[in-house]
Amino acid sequence: MSYNIAIDGPAGAGKSTIARKIAKKMQFIYVDTGAMYRAMALYFIRNGIRPEEKDKISGICKEADITIRYVDGEQVVLLNGENVNGLIRTEEVSNMACESSANPDVRRKLVELQQLLAKESDVVMDGRDIGTCVLPDADVKVYLTAGSATRAKRRYDELTAKGVECDFAQIEKDIIERDKRDMSREVSPLRKAEDAVLVDSSDMTIDEVAEAIIGLCRKPGV
Ligand code: C5P
Repeated sequence: MSYNIAIDGPAGAGKSTIARKIAKKMQFIYVDTGAMYRAMALYFIRNGIRPEEKDKISGICKEADITIRYVDGEQVVLLNGENVNGLIRTEEVSNMACESSANPDVRRKLVELQQLLAKESDVVMDGRDIGTCVLPDADVKVYLTAGSATRAKRRYDELTAKGVECDFAQIEKDIIERDKRDMSREVSPLRKAEDAVLVDSSDMTIDEVAEAIIGLCRKPGV
């Protein structure tokens, strides 16, 4: 039986940084489910589909083949065979991913892939619905959050470090807007699973959060 750690939470809570760290330390596979929704969103953008075109999204998502490879321990997302890792972190893709992830056909397809990965390997999987829908029987469930100003500051620092010009107030506004949509959608909304441990990372370092989560894992030999 594989061992599964589920980490959910709003945008910018530090899920991916922390999940990656835990995966490395525990020699698990890190599965970034947001990247899958982003790759799918890129496909819709490339096909000129607008977020409100729900029927078109349901139809065309069947053509988008999303697969995952691991290169030097890093997840690479392939969209119809093309490595799209470098193309899915833009604001345009973030917004399209947030809109199109509310579509049940998109979710069905990606959840199936995520469940398969978790069945085959020990994983740390992060997203919005991992503890509630994708892996309801996960061994450890965490709901990771932080105040919106902290989360916006992290995103701002990340972008400025990459040389991307950005506006702090706009980033915070986008984050709040995206969370609202993720929490209020009909299918698999973002919420804390009843049995998830709530971790507020506002005043914690990355290492402190990672250690706290590793402390929740009780697999013999890990
Ligand atoms: O985590 P990330 O910001 O990359 O996710 C992008 C978008 O994908 C989120 O805003 C959310 O709408 C969607 N998503 C989701 N379910 C997941 C992971 C991401 O709906 N498990």
